[in-house]
Amino acid sequence: MTAPVLVPFDLPMRVRFRGITRRRGVLVQGPAGWGEWSPFAEYVTPEIDPWWRCAREAAVEGWPAAVRSSVPVNVTIPAVSPWDAHARAAASGCSTAKIKVAEPGQSAAEDEARVEAVRDALGASGRVRIDANGAWTVAEALRRLRSLARYGLEYAEQPCRSVEELRELRLALARAGVEVPIAADESIRRSGDPERVAALEAADVAVLKVQPLGGVRACLELAERLGMPVVVSSALETSVGIAAGVSLAAALPELPYACGLNTVSLLDADVALDPLVAVDGAIGVRSVEVRDVAAWDAGPLAADEWRRRWLTMEDRPW
Ligand SMILES: [Mg+2]
Repeated sequence: MTAPVLVPFDLPMRVRFRGITRRRGVLVQGPAGWGEWSPFAEYVTPEIDPWWRCAREAAVEGWPAAVRSSVPVNVTIPAVSPWDAHARAAASGCSTAKIKVAEPGQSAAEDEARVEAVRDALGASGRVRIDANGAWTVAEALRRLRSLARYGLEYAEQPCRSVEELRELRLALARAGVEVPIAADESIRRSGDPERVAALEAADVAVLKVQPLGGVRACLELAERLGMPVVVSSALETSVGIAAGVSLAAALPELPYACGLNTVSLLDADVALDPLVAVDGAIGVRSVEVRDVAAWDAGPLAADEWRRRWLTMEDRPW
């Protein structure tokens, strides 16, 4: 069996997001098209293994049947100033916004001003969700959400780190009469046991990301096992990786929430001729044509590095 050719990309981001300013990964081409393998730099095997299975699925198997032709998406608001946040939300064409909060070095007042600005931009009918990436203790999350609840939150994503904390927070919110649903993200994709979230009733919503969870089919099966509403979100992929997320969103029997898939716009460049970004708040379900490889290939040194990383996985189907 021949090994896959890994073509590296290294793209600048428009704004710092989840602590990174460049997005790196590889594309791999197979009989079904291109797949993307782009685990973040700090991840090691076995955590990077499902990311590879997703790339392989895209390149070798292709996608399951779609039940819809477009998927609604949210605008993603990084930890920017209220003015900037307002402008981004207003210009997005989306009626749902996901706002990054709890950024290191920023205060509760800064978070609140950003949420207020986005609520103002989207109006009363808009949906506003926040993502704290597990930064808060249960007590702090309770305090923050009590205060932020006045802006009408669709849900709070991963307010605390562990599944136990999410469960405790959910009970505390209910006792305090604070109506903010909880979404689990890292607890689904990094805990090693996504089904514990459902078993412990630690969240109202599960965030599914195709790369860390092993591909579209694996996510469809997981969604069925979880038996709770899911939100499809990205891992900041290029258009090639986003196509996998769009395929999952297109194939799910129910899609009650806007997807966090409009993140190609956070990149300053892309690998696609026609980037997979939202028009009027939705992304069309379509194939992605990769532009001339020479235009984005990060070069032989990067390819060697990714090759070494690929070889660290014990199980690397191709
Ligand atoms: Mg998240």
